[in-house]
This record gives sequence, structure tokens and C-alpha cells, in this order.
Amino acid sequence: MPLNIAIAGAGFSGAVIANELAQAGHTITVYEPRTHIAGNCYSARDEATQIMLHHFGPHIFHTDKAHIWDYVTQLGEFKPFVNRVKAVTQGQVYSLPINLHTINQFFNKQMSPDEAKAFIASQADKGISEPQNFEQQAQKMIGESLYQAFFKHYTIKQWGRSPDSLPASILKRLPLRFNYDDNYFNHPYQGMPADGYTALVEKLLDHPNINVQLNSAFNAAMKSQYAHVFFSGPLDAYFDYQLGRLPYRTLDFVKETHDGDYQGNAVINYCDSSQAYTRISEHKHFAPWEEHNKTVIFKEYSREATEDDTPYYPVRLSGDNSLLERYIDLAKQEKDITFVGRLGTYCYLDMDVTIDQALNTSKLFLTCLANGQTM
Ligand code: UDP
Repeated sequence: MPLNIAIAGAGFSGAVIANELAQAGHTITVYEPRTHIAGNCYSARDEATQIMLHHFGPHIFHTDKAHIWDYVTQLGEFKPFVNRVKAVTQGQVYSLPINLHTINQFFNKQMSPDEAKAFIASQADKGISEPQNFEQQAQKMIGESLYQAFFKHYTIKQWGRSPDSLPASILKRLPLRFNYDDNYFNHPYQGMPADGYTALVEKLLDHPNINVQLNSAFNAAMKSQYAHVFFSGPLDAYFDYQLGRLPYRTLDFVKETHDGDYQGNAVINYCDSSQAYTRISEHKHFAPWEEHNKTVIFKEYSREATEDDTPYYPVRLSGDNSLLERYIDLAKQEKDITFVGRLGTYCYLDMDVTIDQALNTSKLFLTCLANGQTM
């Protein structure tokens, strides 16, 4: 029997679940508080220059999962794109992630891979066996001078906290290489949607069983109207912040339009404290197959989110996460609702992981239903 299902949020999580359940015959209402779909993946062409802008910061699709690559490439055309990030620190431009070029340039040497490996091992802090936080992870992995140059100040700007209070897992996202490979990601599949991310989400939501309500926030009082709710908004917002606010970082983008080419690359990170912004993105370089005479850049500033800001990064700490744990306990007590996505699970998720989790959640829901169980 078809069920009435509500989904809060029209980002990848909500849209994938809506699509899967609509295809299974259920009736879906998607509530999206913003004026547009696609959440923070939202992209749209700039009116003046027609450049595709990543309105909420750079999004590069990458995954190591063949089934997720198949899934997204069926939603729309993907163009080849490899993210090659540059880093400015101490007055020079380096290659990121830290690779043999970065190491040789930074230490003014000509080392082979084996020599560099031994050299970095000699720099590493050997007193740290199990890194307890971001700082220790960096000191153990690359040593103090590379940590100071590339990670310490960027991380303070990005997270607004001392790196010794942040989890080691944040740094584990980044590769360290002893060759000249400057691809920012290790994943075998990488690309950029030719018509932007919004078009992919539009395709997911384009189904007769799906009704999308923009400018409409879902709230707990509406839950009783539905057989099940999938909530991809902030976990603490669902509970009306009754235990206090979970910390999020938000981003401010200062947009500038220039003639020609501004920086010659899609993303340049500013790793020391000489600039208050963390990075500059030049959006036409995310679509190198297009030609534009003008260029649009975003200078990106990170700060603590207040009530009225768009939440971007959940701030999980290396020590006390008791407030989060109390919200998770509250969530477990709720029936007929599943918390999903970056904001619903309060996790730092890449797009491919978000989509994979949403597909798994949909499958589990449909299996439970078929077996007469609840999720
Ligand atoms: N990071 C850094 N310097 C850099 C790039 C990254 O210190 O030039 C740190 C920073 O703490 C960041 C984390 O590494 O949050 C993970 O980087 P990633 O590029 O994955 O962050 P994203 O931009 O995807 O949030």
C-alpha cells in the first residue's frame, strides 16, 4: 500500500530518498526551507557572465565506488575534471596535497621518493603513537614545519578552534604522497556535472509522486500527518534546540568579477595567517570545457554559524561531544523518523557518501516495509 512520506530537505540525501521511494510507488512531499533545491550543492549560472557558480563553495564529485559513479552519471553528463589545488604559504605557491613536489620545494631539495619518505619520517614526531587530535596526527604524519606551513593556520581559520581540540580524522581525509601526483583526491572516479549539480537534483525530484514545497520548513508538529519522515535538516533544529545548539561552521563568500583569468586555477588555499580567507575559488576553472572572457572569484571566509546562518560544517571535537550524544539519544527515542545526511547525522560527509547512505537508507526502509517491520 502506498504511504504518505515527508522528506525534510531537498539536497542529495532528501532527493535520492524521494526518488527511490517514489519509484517504489509511495507519495512523497519534500519540504525545503530555502528558495532552491540541491542544498549546499546548489549551482547556477551567474547572470552577468554566464559562468556556472558553486554558490555554496567548490563541489568536486569524486568517489571510489563504481555503483555511485554509475548512479550519478545516469542523472546527467559528467565532464572529466581533476581537482589540482595550489597552496600559498610563507610567500610561495606550492602543490597540494603534500606530494614530492611540495616536499622538495619546501625543503629546497631534489629527493627521490625513498629519500623523501625517510626524510619525512625523520621530521615526524616519534613520541606520538596514537594521535589523539588533529595536531598530533599532523606532527606524527609530516612533522612540525610542514604542519605549521600548510595545516595549522588554515585549520584555525577553517574551524575557529585550536587543532589540538579537533579530531585526527579531519586530517586523514588528505593524502600524503611521495610522487608527483597532484590530484587532490585518491578516488578513481572524478568529474564535474556538465550542467551543474542543481540539474542532477532536479532530475531526481522530477517524478509524478514527488511534490516539492520550496520556502517550507518541516517541523516536528507535522510528523503525525505522515507514515514516515526522513529529516535531513539540522538534528538540533528538529528538537527545537531544546538541549542547546550544536556548533556548525558557516562560510561567507566575497564575490568579485574580473576580466580574463584571475589566478589560473580553480582553487588556491591560503595556508598561513597572512590572509583571513581560507581559499579563493575561480569558478570558470571548474568548467574548463567552457570559454569565458570574464571571471568570477569567491574569497571564502569561515566563521561560527549563528541561528540565522546556513550551516556547513558540523564541528565534532576530539574530546567532549556530550551534547551531540544527548541529541542522538533523543533521536533514538523518536518513532517513524530517520535522520539523514550531513546535518541530520551531524557528520562531515562528501557527496558520494551522502548519496550512498541515502540509497542504503531507502533500501532498508523498503525491505522493512516488505517484511512488515518499522525502521
Ligand atoms: N586543511 C589544511 N590546509 C589545507 C587544506 C586542508 O589545514 O590547505 C585541513 C583543514 O583542517 C580542512 C581539512 O584539512 O578542514 C580537510 O581538508 P579538505 O580539503 O578535505 O576540506 P574541505 O574543503 O573538503 O572541507
